[in-house]
Amino acid sequence: MVSDKTLSPGNNHQEGVAVWLTGLSGAGKTTISIPLCERLESMGYRVQRLDGDVVREKLTPDLGFTKEDRDKNIERVTFIAERLVRHGVITVCAFISPYRAERQYARGEIGRFVEVFVKCPLEVCEERDVKGLYAKARAGEIKNFTGISDPYEEPENAEMTVDTSQSTLEAEVDAIIGYLRENGYII
Ligand code: ADP
Repeated sequence: MVSDKTLSPGNNHQEGVAVWLTGLSGAGKTTISIPLCERLESMGYRVQRLDGDVVREKLTPDLGFTKEDRDKNIERVTFIAERLVRHGVITVCAFISPYRAERQYARGEIGRFVEVFVKCPLEVCEERDVKGLYAKARAGEIKNFTGISDPYEEPENAEMTVDTSQSTLEAEVDAIIGYLRENGYII
C-alpha cells in the first residue's frame, strides 16, 4: 500500500504510471494528451508525454508501418516509458498501437499501466481527417493504414474507454484524472 505522502506530487518518492492512449488515427489521442499533461503538471506531478508522431520522427525514423515495424516501435517506446515510470514520472503515451499483443507487452513491461481506449468510429475519424491521411489511404497512396488497409484490434481489458464522438475533450480529461485519483495513482 502506498501512502498519501508517497503519492504527493513532485516529491522524490512520486510513483510513476503509464497512461496509454490507444485508438485510430484522428480518434483524439494527441488532443487529449496535451491538456491531460497540463492538468497533471499544474497539480505538481512530473509528467512526460510520448506521442506517436514525435517518436516516429525522433526515435524511430527508421521504422515503417508493417506489423514487424509497428511492433518494434511500441517495444522501443515501452523501453523508454518503463524507465520513466520507474523513476516516478507520469508518462502519457499516445500511440495507435493497433495490436493487442503489443499493448499487452507494454503493460507487462511497465507494470503500472492504465490503458485508455480512445474510441471513435472510423467514419468520424475519416470525416475529421486531421492530417489528410485517410484520403490518401483511400486513394491507395498510403499502404498499411490502420482502419483502412491495416487492422485495429480494439482493447478487451482497457482500464477505461473515452468515446470522443460522444463527449467533450474536457469531460475526457476529467474522466482520466478521476480514474487516476480513484485508483490511487494521484491524490
Ligand atoms: P490522434 O492523436 O488520435 O491521431 P488527434 O488528436 O490528432 O488524433 O486528432 C483528433 C481530432 O479530433 C482533433 O482535430 C480534435 O480537435 C478532434 N476532436 C473532436 N472532438 C474531440 C473530442 N471530444 N476529444 C478529442 N478530440 C476531439
